[in-house]
Amino acid sequence: MHNKSVAELSKELESGKISSVELTQQFLDRLKSEDGKYNSFITISDEQALAEAKAADEMRAAGKATAWTGVPFAHKDIFCTNGVRTTCGSKMLENFVPPYDATVTANFKAAGAVCLGKTNMDEFAMGSSNESSFFGAVTNPWGEKRVPGGSSGGSAAAVAARLVPAATGTDTGGSIRQPAALCGITGLKPTYGRVSRYGMIAFASSLDQGGPMTRTAEDAALMMNVMAGFDTKDSTCIDREVPDYTATLNEPLKGLKIGLPKEYFSEQLSPAMEEQVRNAVREYEKLGATVKEVSLPNAKLAIAAYYVIAPAEASANLSRFDGARYGYRCENPKDLMDMYTRTRAEGFGNEVKRRILVGSYALSAGYFDAYYLKAQKVRRLIQQDFINAFKDVDVMMSPVSPSPAFVQGEKTTDPVTMYLEDVFTIAINLAGIPAMSVPAGFVDGLPVGLQIIGDYFSEARLLNAAHQFQQVTDWHQREPQ
Ligand code: GLN
Repeated sequence: MHNKSVAELSKELESGKISSVELTQQFLDRLKSEDGKYNSFITISDEQALAEAKAADEMRAAGKATAWTGVPFAHKDIFCTNGVRTTCGSKMLENFVPPYDATVTANFKAAGAVCLGKTNMDEFAMGSSNESSFFGAVTNPWGEKRVPGGSSGGSAAAVAARLVPAATGTDTGGSIRQPAALCGITGLKPTYGRVSRYGMIAFASSLDQGGPMTRTAEDAALMMNVMAGFDTKDSTCIDREVPDYTATLNEPLKGLKIGLPKEYFSEQLSPAMEEQVRNAVREYEKLGATVKEVSLPNAKLAIAAYYVIAPAEASANLSRFDGARYGYRCENPKDLMDMYTRTRAEGFGNEVKRRILVGSYALSAGYFDAYYLKAQKVRRLIQQDFINAFKDVDVMMSPVSPSPAFVQGEKTTDPVTMYLEDVFTIAINLAGIPAMSVPAGFVDGLPVGLQIIGDYFSEARLLNAAHQFQQVTDWHQREPQ
């Protein structure tokens, strides 16, 4: 059962061959025996999972089943789960048990899905390797000592290792797509505002977006059917009709216009990686697509703009962790100031502190215009590049990451080399458009991702393009070991 997709598990449950309680128990047993190798989960919530499975079986018996009823999955530990610890990978929230559900969590519950637990992640979603988690690094199932990518590295590793068929992720600068690429799975970062951020712990509010991490594009469509939609609790969520994302998966791709941004096929990309990406594009040509070069002249400014905007917003968002309200509080504070400073010094890890320092600096009086405002102007130029390019093409294709999964520890001493992991993904968040990572080959036995970038609210088209590719390739079916 563990090798089956969400769509397949859904059919098994529907046919009555297995109950959700039986299926959930099988997945829990496997998770407990296997995850020692990967550390992909922070919390396994067996009790709640079995209760949800029982409720799912009853829901089905009552004739109220959805495609998700009784299907096991996991949440990145950034989504608040009522009664289940939610840590965001930080000591600051090591013992935080939310008294409410994120909207995404509530949506999966309403559909009858069974959450097995919470997956590991970089602390407060800051990182590209999962090494900044307070709960320890995650190992990529494709290579001992290799990183799974980040920040949604636990979700990516768990899906790749067949511990769950699907997991949620979040993407502020690449955190769904880059780990999906490094672990050989499928990931989608939706348009900013497509999925509610209510109850999703905030990193950089103008960039954060939740999305699906699965093995197949079809399963990503099934996840989007549950995740997408308007929410009055999130003022940045857009009130716009949600299509059935599975309905258009089988549309033929004949005539699809693909743009290859020339800036994304630069020296930063190794020839072996480039070859895999170009092979994938050739598959699309065989399916009837046409290909042309496009240009994103300001793309080279994306990393610099992001590393002003994201830390600035993070410094404001993380000010709530002060020991007074919830989360970690230092022992025996002398006075109020001592409590604030020691709580934050002890509760946050180094990468988070670095971002708070950079962000507070960029926002301080006298520097705001020079850094934050300037970065916002650059952001608008980057967005305009995409708008211009989409006048000529339907989608763009590029690599996801400059190299395959790197060795643990290789990039931890130099934050800038770590930041460059997102050189092909970050501009997409700055523009707010959707993009996917789809398994597209291997280099040295390690998975390579193809990035498919779309215009605003074109998730259905991206999923269609990914699904068609997965009908003629089997990269997404390859199993580690
Ligand atoms: N790697 C980027 C960062 O560290 C993006 C992380 C993310 O998308 N959450 O900020």
